Amino acid sequence: KFSKDFGQHILKNPGIAEAIVNKAYLKPTDTVLEVGPGTGNLTVKILEQAKKVIAVEMDPRMAAETTKRVQGKPEQKRLEVLLGDVIKTELPSFDVCISNTPYQISSPLVFKLLSLPNPPRTCVLMFQREFALRLTARPDDPLYCRLSVNAQFWARITHILKVGRNNFRPPPQVDSSVVRIEPKLGSERPNISFEEWDGMLRICFNRRNKTLRASWLGNKPVLQLLERNYRLWCATNDIPVDDEQIMVDNDDETWEVVGDEVVSAPPAMDIDEEDDALPSFFQPETQVEKTKSHKSFAKVYLLVKEKVRRVLEDVTDLADKRSGKCDENDFLRLLQAFNAEGIHFS
Ligand code: SAM
Repeated sequence: KFSKDFGQHILKNPGIAEAIVNKAYLKPTDTVLEVGPGTGNLTVKILEQAKKVIAVEMDPRMAAETTKRVQGKPEQKRLEVLLGDVIKTELPSFDVCISNTPYQISSPLVFKLLSLPNPPRTCVLMFQREFALRLTARPDDPLYCRLSVNAQFWARITHILKVGRNNFRPPPQVDSSVVRIEPKLGSERPNISFEEWDGMLRICFNRRNKTLRASWLGNKPVLQLLERNYRLWCATNDIPVDDEQIMVDNDDETWEVVGDEVVSAPPAMDIDEEDDALPSFFQPETQVEKTKSHKSFAKVYLLVKEKVRRVLEDVTDLADKRSGKCDENDFLRLLQAFNAEGIHFS
């Protein structure tokens, strides 16, 4: 009867349902978003304490079950059931989020809640135990990841309750935990863009156990992406990309760029042989074009590479550190240094 694809594990212990709702400290004026109401066990308890519940459910059979729970009762008017995937649904504003979360959407749901322009006051969410531990992991912990940094940077996270697998029907493979996420609001909320911050973290954590130097400078697709972002940023801010002078020593190759002139560059032929310093999408047709665009591409690419090196080695001194050991202050310093160089991530 229950669908594995939808992560349907119904909470059968009413004591735990009660505890989850109580831990949200609801006010009678609150609008609550419930994700995946299932058969409505939590929904009816939330309706006892809040003004309104908006329940988003993906499975039409379950949505019908939830609706049936309040049919003909006074609460009916205070429940709105939206049929669909909560991740793809544009959410109306709400004060609190409560969910016995389907495990497949744990990560996207947390990211969605944290990045809302008007985040809720509090979220009380049930997750698989390991996911809950990732939310609270600190640097050096093997579970520390991009999710940990984001969650703790944008919110206060508290582990509130351990829930054994036998409290569910059917029981899942692993135990669960209830966690409270209180997004930082108002003046407490960091004054930076979520997309910028998360975009940078994605790169830092693409090779979690390698140094930041390896994640950034040893990763050609990353540098290509930054080059495109940099060109775009310069274009939108009316900044000529050519006005810097750079000199890059690439071990055996020397590049020198002055103004809009590449003073010296390795031969264009190199690009046919998997030249590490050049974007792979560059495939010029004629020899003349080849040399011309080779130089222009190479210049911005190398300029960006040099900026990244400067940020990691000179400005922040984080080049030899691994992401798994950096705390939020390190990442904040890193973002500020990149932005100061005109390097952006969204
Ligand atoms: N709230 C109920 C309870 O505690 O007994 C059911 C919880 S069950 C773990 C998760 C529920 O989320 C299921 O009803 C499932 O159909 C629904 N669901 C799964 N993926 C979803 C999604 N992307 N958006 C909205 N609901 C989803």
